[in-house]
Amino acid sequence: MNHHLSASEKKIWILIQEKIKEKVTPQQFTTWFSGLNLIKLTTKEIHFHAPNSFCSEWIENNYMDAVVLSLKEASISNRKVKFVADNSSSEPEPGVQNNYPSPNTDSPTLINKNYNFNNFLVGPCNRMAHAAALAVSESPGTAYNPLFIHGSVGLGKTHLLHAILLRLQEKGHKALYLPCESFVNHYISTIKTGDWDNFRSKYRQIDVLLIDDVHFLANSQSTREEFFHTFNALYTRQKQIVLSSDCPPEEIPTIEERLISRFRWGLITRVDPPGFETSVAIIQKKTALLKMDISYDVACYLADNVISSIREIEGTLTNIHKYAAMNDGKVDLNLVKQIIRGFSKQKQNIGIEKILDTVTKHYGVQLSQLHSKRRLKSITLPRQIAMHLARKFTNLSLGEIGGYMGGRDHTTVMHADDKIKKLKSVDRSVSSSIRKLEDTLTKKK
Ligand code: ADP
Ligand code: MG
Repeated sequence: MNHHLSASEKKIWILIQEKIKEKVTPQQFTTWFSGLNLIKLTTKEIHFHAPNSFCSEWIENNYMDAVVLSLKEASISNRKVKFVADNSSSEPEPGVQNNYPSPNTDSPTLINKNYNFNNFLVGPCNRMAHAAALAVSESPGTAYNPLFIHGSVGLGKTHLLHAILLRLQEKGHKALYLPCESFVNHYISTIKTGDWDNFRSKYRQIDVLLIDDVHFLANSQSTREEFFHTFNALYTRQKQIVLSSDCPPEEIPTIEERLISRFRWGLITRVDPPGFETSVAIIQKKTALLKMDISYDVACYLADNVISSIREIEGTLTNIHKYAAMNDGKVDLNLVKQIIRGFSKQKQNIGIEKILDTVTKHYGVQLSQLHSKRRLKSITLPRQIAMHLARKFTNLSLGEIGGYMGGRDHTTVMHADDKIKKLKSVDRSVSSSIRKLEDTLTKKK
């Protein structure tokens, strides 16, 4: 399509693109936005042309916030945004230049050799998942098929998938690991090239397929369709399938029942945040690896204060390691306290009272209702949003926030925070409410 833009429209389009670039990664920009064109701009509407409907659908489902914000920043808000694709099917126009990155068939996904079973610490939070992962590595295709591991971020899902892969490769199995996003990208680029033989042979002529973060499938119906066929092809030949996700199958938005039921054929297991003792053990193991000497007291203090995920524990330890290097390598409780406090200072410190006040006003509920044990949706949503905002804007620990929320414990706060983060990305009304609340909270008076 040839679109004639006036000079001023061209300028605006360049500005919009710059604003979008600030909000997404370079890879995301090339994949989704480089093929986009501005085709119509009036005082009421703005239309973009996308290379195909798959691309426009994806942008609408995943990047609308970025687009709308970019338009606002380019001073052209309050217009109806529309994406136009060449045809209603996902088939590309012949001869259109391929804007998608080519599938990394020759540059395989990087595997972290440290993510092996030896380095994985087992505790009550991950015992089941670990045992199942080991069983699958012992007898792929027969133990648990598929194996589905879910849990929130930073709790070791990728670590376990890599560990299975490494163990199976050692034993000479043909195993393939990839993030779900790569599967989706490969699918999209195959729509462009039409090389389905290559696509299907890649995923079907293997003994073991490990796909990380399958909640990503929520974004595209046609990819789910293809994934379903891949799954069946492997399963009927008793090939092992291992999947991870940040939520249980039935909570993946838009996912079809037939896929959920496939996942139930095998074992579904959850990794939980580490409890106190496991945290201490992990901290001791990681500090030993970093050749850092810390006392049991310090390990306990850390376990008490950094509890949301194992990734966060690692991040904190790396920071402590850096500071310790400047401090003759000494790590004592004072230093650790300073460091933790120093980092949390970076949060804008908004009082919990203000958060509770803003949330109750916005939703027209009473503070006592937030404190109560009632599970009406009209109350649980504001309650969980309040906890989410408290995590984001205050320095309070999970336990302290729970205290302000009618004496709830730290796992409740953590789950609420996770839940809202997820909901924000799939539910427009929730995300817009949160944006409004955040605007109110951060407004300078
Ligand atoms: P997820 O995929 O669930 O988001 P990762 O597997 O990326 O989490 O884990 C985050 C970090 O925490 C990684 O560096 C990983 O090695 C580490 N980690 C997670 N669980 C454990 C564990 N049980 N023992 C040791 N390290 C762990
Ligand atoms: Mg992961």
